[in-house]
Amino acid sequence: MPQPFTIHGQAIRPGTRTTVDLPVAQLHTHTPVNMPVQVVRGRGDGPRVFVSAAIHGDELNGVEIIRRVLRHKALKRLRGTLVAVPIVNVHGVLHHSRYLPDRRDLNRSFPGSERGSLAARLAHLFMTEVVGNCDYGIDLHTGAIHRGNLPQIRADLDDPEADRLAKLFGVPVLLNSALRDGSLRQAAGDRGVPVLLYEAGEALRFDEFSIRVGVRGVLNVLRALGMLRPSRRKRPLPEPYVARSSNWVRAPQSGFLRTTVELGALVKKGDRLGVVSDPFGEQEETVKALGEGIVVGRTNLPLVNEGDGLFHIARFKAADEVAAELEAFQSEEEAFSTNERGEEAD
Ligand SMILES: [Zn+2]
Repeated sequence: MPQPFTIHGQAIRPGTRTTVDLPVAQLHTHTPVNMPVQVVRGRGDGPRVFVSAAIHGDELNGVEIIRRVLRHKALKRLRGTLVAVPIVNVHGVLHHSRYLPDRRDLNRSFPGSERGSLAARLAHLFMTEVVGNCDYGIDLHTGAIHRGNLPQIRADLDDPEADRLAKLFGVPVLLNSALRDGSLRQAAGDRGVPVLLYEAGEALRFDEFSIRVGVRGVLNVLRALGMLRPSRRKRPLPEPYVARSSNWVRAPQSGFLRTTVELGALVKKGDRLGVVSDPFGEQEETVKALGEGIVVGRTNLPLVNEGDGLFHIARFKAADEVAAELEAFQSEEEAFSTNERGEEAD
């Protein structure tokens, strides 16, 4: 007999799909606010996995990733339970904002508390109803506003299970990121629930490549956990490379930035990444790479102030191998999207 699964007092039977509204603080206008959760239970027993998005309310790629995963036909043969939470920070999404109305960052407010700030209460609700019911989690993020991120996985790679799943997600670039205080990833990790963080694209934008890679990554993890059947298409996973460290190259002066490198580009020490200029083109400064690495994040806003982070460069043992893998990965993904859309599309 499969184990019972109960969320917010509601029992979800095997072989069913149910949307549960978790009530959060209502709006000023007396309008009730809910955190919508969809629980998909397979007929057979298996792990319980949550996939969450929009903890930062302006990070929308994950909402679309979850929508596509939920419509994917592979779920018909699901074993175990998928708990999908496409909009964690409901207030943030309503305001197109990363934050809660009091400017608190929800992803610094975990594990939260029942009587704390609105952020703390939301975090507490998520920990109790979602994390408390799951064995694993995948948390979907994007770069901040006006910043694009190369699809990448951040996880505590010193945790063997997180390391295994991070490599099976299927992106070439992995960042072993220290657990950040107050993050969902840390709070869940403390409770023995490993969480992968997928970062891709830019806030308030849909990025098709990032979304596709994210959908396939979530499905890859569910397959690796034995919740979905192996894919019939024999598409090898990309070779995962773990960054040794990363740093931001900052604006040498204020002005307008013209960028000359794309996400995923290989750069060497002293390479030109862009130029910051005044509006007359009289005062120009070249932005140079401080060392060899791969561009994993980039600002998309030409307006920059001195000191602003412009390019996020990750260092690898063999950056040229990573660049070659990324190029193959990108062109394969493009070919896949035109030839074999059927399987991945909804
Ligand atoms: Zn985020």
